[in-house]
Amino acid sequence: MVNTTIAEASHSSREERTLPRKHEVGYDFDFIVIGSGFGGSVSAHRLTEKGYKVAVMEMGRRWTPDNLPRTSWSIRRWIWRPKLGLRGFFNLRFFRHATIFHGCAVGGGSITFACTLLPPPEKVWENGSWRGLADWKTEMARHYETASRMLGITENKILGPADHLLKKAADAAGFGETFYCTKVGIFQAADGGPGNQTFADPFFGGEGPARTTCIGCGGCMMGCRYGAKNTLDLGYLYLAEKNGARIFPETRVVNVQPITGAGANADGSAGYLVETVKSTAWIGQQRQRFTCRGVVFSASSLGTMELLFRLKEKGSLPAVSNQLGQHVRTNSESLIGARTPGYSQDLSQGVAIGSGIYIDEHTHIEAVRYPSGSDAMGFLTTILTNGRPGPRRVALWLKNVIVSLVRHPIKTVRVLQPLGWAREFVCLLCMQALEGEIEMRWQRPWFWPFRRFLVSRGEKVPTYIPKANEFAQKYAQLTGGFPMSMLPEILFDVPGTAHCIGGCVIADSCTRGVVDAHHRVFNYKNMYVCDGSVVAANLGVNPSLTITALAERAMSFIPPAGEMDWKDSA
Ligand SMILES: Cc1cc2nc3c(=O)[nH]c(=O)nc-3n(C[C@H](O)[C@H](O)[C@H](O)COP(=O)(O)OP(=O)(O)OC[C@H]3O[C@@H](n4cnc5c(N)ncnc54)[C@H](O)[C@@H]3O)c2cc1C
Ligand code: SF4
Repeated sequence: MVNTTIAEASHSSREERTLPRKHEVGYDFDFIVIGSGFGGSVSAHRLTEKGYKVAVMEMGRRWTPDNLPRTSWSIRRWIWRPKLGLRGFFNLRFFRHATIFHGCAVGGGSITFACTLLPPPEKVWENGSWRGLADWKTEMARHYETASRMLGITENKILGPADHLLKKAADAAGFGETFYCTKVGIFQAADGGPGNQTFADPFFGGEGPARTTCIGCGGCMMGCRYGAKNTLDLGYLYLAEKNGARIFPETRVVNVQPITGAGANADGSAGYLVETVKSTAWIGQQRQRFTCRGVVFSASSLGTMELLFRLKEKGSLPAVSNQLGQHVRTNSESLIGARTPGYSQDLSQGVAIGSGIYIDEHTHIEAVRYPSGSDAMGFLTTILTNGRPGPRRVALWLKNVIVSLVRHPIKTVRVLQPLGWAREFVCLLCMQALEGEIEMRWQRPWFWPFRRFLVSRGEKVPTYIPKANEFAQKYAQLTGGFPMSMLPEILFDVPGTAHCIGGCVIADSCTRGVVDAHHRVFNYKNMYVCDGSVVAANLGVNPSLTITALAERAMSFIPPAGEMDWKDSA
């Protein structure tokens, strides 16, 4: 490892590229994996298993039941904005086309995700740029099976009041037969109870950690404080670390370049230099340099796009395909819900996403909840407003709020203020498996022309799915509550999504995508992308199981350490 001071780090870019040669320094690692989410954890585990020396660089912190926040009011330990002193595991990024929610932690999105792990419909392999590049349906079946076993997927056995209401509302609307209990990555007692019982490793033949059964507190998205959620740090990453992988938390990768230099012909065959800074440092960057023979980008769809754009711009990886940032998908989501002030039951009980229904062939709704006391998101919800987006919808929303305040002043004030929100609110997450994509570009925005950022371009993503709004109204009628919308969707016509995928999609050539069907980055050697950015079609379901299965498949092509010739390329 080569440590650099801040003064050294500020050398001119020409001097920075005078790099140590591999025979002078040896390699610190065989592989460096950037990011420790679903793609990164699978990669780290499978590579250590094959005998490689692996490091995992992770921007976020390590979390344990002891340091996780109790509720979402503990903003400092929930939200990730290190420059503002917020060092949590949940990040929000605002774009013109979508507000994107994603995880940032050792274990990536698994710390904050809602543990729903569903396979997509088979038709997704017939759409997008990956079509025809492999016998996906046959090949993926075994990788889904491995991924499901490793993530400990089970059918949810803990149905809370919100799930029972979803069933009732679906019955009333005529979709009752589509109701299903979600498949979740949660350690639940065989019959759904009792919770809080600790057992020796139930998943990995004694190689994994002891685990405790789920109590159905609804807290999955605030991080599980009971050790019941199958987060990656208790599975793939735990095993990788046990096998010798070194995890570097709070370490952000800022540069990756071929060891032979960064000229147009440098293809990485002699290895890579990876530079990092401390992501949570207040003063100084604590820059470090590492050498390795191969690199796996697993920084998530947004994270990998952002890093590759930066490296392409600064000349470290100039040959990355110009398709970078194309075919970004948001799962066509809309968040709606219902809030019932003073409801007789605690709607936060259950697991974060306990059940779902299909309201038509393409449209899928899940009942989502936050744990009791986690009411901060209540600021983002408001009275449901139908209609086409734009100034008219904003005007209609204002009218709805005023009419409601006049008719039911106390109830309306109660529904608009956040206290008690998690116990009274059920979020309905609506996803559509319809094609639709945006583009991410690396540009100077008009409001800040001093540096480039990721900016979204393309057709607007729909924020108003009329059938979903109708269903929210039915749901609210059952409880005597208010149907609700997300405020940013109404005010700014911007949908929220936790499922951003694509941007470095799998394709047959660098004129159509960024990686080949083995996840190898076009124009480079021993460089891979294993995360949500490679997904080349709208899945219509939560994507983590597919990202895991794709990473399992990608790693299956890498030979054991003793047989590797380090010439792997697309
Ligand atoms: C609140 C919420 C609920 C969700 N619920 C579900 C669900 O129920 N089911 C489901 O399937 N999906 C869910 N998701 C989505 C899921 O979390 C993501 O799809 C998944 O985590 C993506 O996996 P990934 O491997 O692409 O990257 P991630 O899991 O996002 O991991 C990427 C990691 O890379 C790190 N990183 C980024 N840049 C750098 C850098 N430069 N240097 C070092 N590290 C870096 C990040 O900190 C992050 O930890 C949810 C997401 C959120 C936010
Ligand atoms: S419902 Fe509670 S106990 Fe169960 S996995 Fe989620 S956070 Fe953990």
